[in-house]
Parts: sequence; C-alpha cells; structure tokens
Amino acid sequence: MIIPVEVKTGKIPRQPYQTHIMQLVTYCHLVEENYHVRRTYGIIRYPQQEFTIQYTDALEQELSRLVGEMRVKRGWDEIHRNHNQRAKCAACGFHEICSERLDLESQARLDL
Ligand code: SF4
Repeated sequence: MIIPVEVKTGKIPRQPYQTHIMQLVTYCHLVEENYHVRRTYGIIRYPQQEFTIQYTDALEQELSRLVGEMRVKRGWDEIHRNHNQRAKCAACGFHEICSERLDLESQARLDL
C-alpha cells in the first residue's frame, strides 16, 4: 500500500496549513494516476506531530480548480503576490528574483 507522506520541518501548526494539505492532495492524485489505486488518505508529518488528511472528493475538486487557475495564469504577463507572510517569502525558491518579496533582508542585499 502506498500512502503519501509529506514531511515538514520548522514550526508545528495547530492545524496543517492549507498549502501543505493541497501539496499532499497532489501526491494522492499522482499516486492514483500512476498506480491506478485511490488512496483514501495521506499524512503530513511535522517534527513532533502528524496529521492524517482524508483524500476527499471535495479536496480533489479543489486541486482541480487550483490547477485550472494555474494554467490560466501561466499565460499572464504579470502575477502578483497574494499573501503577506514574510516567512513564506524568506523560504521561497524565487525570492532572489521576485520583485514583490517581503523578506527585506534579501531585498537590501540585492539593492547594493
Ligand atoms: S518571494 Fe515572491 S514568489 Fe516567493 S512567496 Fe514571496 S511573493 Fe511569492
């Protein structure tokens, strides 16, 4: 049996972040696509706590909606930041080139 497990480091939230849930749902979808078996759940594992997330029809539909939105926006010339979380920008793989990043330390370094 294949159960997707997303391992996270850092702060343990009271409830899993929605972005982490959708990442796990994506893995559940990929398992289904590649192995032709539907997993009913996956696990998000934080350093000292884990959450079992049911792979529901509603989450699958939300994944489909998000992927559709991404496909549409991929053709746009500009896409703007949709959050105000400095920590998210600090950990983002695009922060070195992103003009809307919130982590000012990196911004100051680039402005030299
Ligand atoms: S650095 Fe830019 S792309 Fe990355 S999370 Fe922040 S706003 Fe989004």
